[in-house]
Amino acid sequence: MAQSDRNRKALVLGAGGFIGSHLVSRLKKEGYWVRGVDLKQPDFSKSEADEFIVGDLRDQALCREAIDQKFDEVYQLAADMGGAGFIFSGDNDAEIMHNSGLINLNVVERCKVEGVGRLFYSSSACIYPEHNQLDPDNPNCAEESAYPANPDSEYGWEKLFSERLFLSHHRNHGMEVRIARFHNIFGPMGTWCGGREKAPAAMCRKVAEAEEGGEIEIWGDGKQTRSFLYIDECLEGVRRLMQSDFVGPVNIGSDEMVTINALAELAMDVADKKLSIRHIEGPLGVRGRNSDNQLISEKLGWKPTQPLRDGIASTYSWIEDCVTAAKP
Ligand code: NAD
Repeated sequence: MAQSDRNRKALVLGAGGFIGSHLVSRLKKEGYWVRGVDLKQPDFSKSEADEFIVGDLRDQALCREAIDQKFDEVYQLAADMGGAGFIFSGDNDAEIMHNSGLINLNVVERCKVEGVGRLFYSSSACIYPEHNQLDPDNPNCAEESAYPANPDSEYGWEKLFSERLFLSHHRNHGMEVRIARFHNIFGPMGTWCGGREKAPAAMCRKVAEAEEGGEIEIWGDGKQTRSFLYIDECLEGVRRLMQSDFVGPVNIGSDEMVTINALAELAMDVADKKLSIRHIEGPLGVRGRNSDNQLISEKLGWKPTQPLRDGIASTYSWIEDCVTAAKP
């Protein structure tokens, strides 16, 4: 732990969520005093935060209570979030824009008033234009390709709006903001069932639940491509960005691109199960997406390198335990 990090105060908004709860643990390990805020406590572990406020960041009064001092670092991760089934169905568009927009407007205002040290904002790969992600073998997600903007979801549009909200406060009010665009973060203690889970967790669950020789279902033809970043590497990127002079936005993602079929095969391989794949209709998102890591390498002298297989192995083992525990 660096001497200068001793007793530094951090605020994690969205501390009851997947990335937020892991971030709280990481900051505690680094010696920070941490306050967490969320609508709920973490689902799968007890928060390690020194203080935890359960409340709604859409509410200005709650925001005043949560951001009541000059924190050294604020991490804004709270958002109305979900897996592909939630974001891309279209049924939740108004909620997503309204809820996340309000949270970000409230948070930036309070951080400005209190003069917080540094403010991190988690944007998303979902801001990249749909037309650059039609070829599954060659998607373009370089940071500068974000404009002219054409995200394929309202979730992406809200993230883009909020990036600009934070950047304009950096320009006009000198606020020290740092912005990352996360690309499919996964790992243990993330949502693994119920419809809001992402592809790696869904795949691990399906494989863990299937009987040897059985089958699992995949949305679409499985030829759509993605990359997936393990939670520990995501947090390493966030911490490095916060300690750097670079404002961003910068991708924090893996550049090990795989098809969804290959992801399923990987989960089967890790589980040592042979299953067949049945392709069914479902919400898909863009055809191809991969993290472009040129800018992060250039600005931070670092990029994620852990093989996907290692992350899937730890995640599978945790989800397999959850599946076993959930059996009657
Ligand atoms: P998550 O859903 O697990 O965490 C978000 C948290 O925000 C939840 O615990 C939720 O309760 C909380 N929240 C929502 N509305 C709130 C409100 N009104 N007041 C207080 N808390 C509220 O999601 P996550 O995967 O941990 O993602 C964290 C951030 O990173 C989000 O902003 C998300 O958009 C962004 N992101 C995540 C990924 C990913 O792959 N996980 C990818 C791109 C961007």
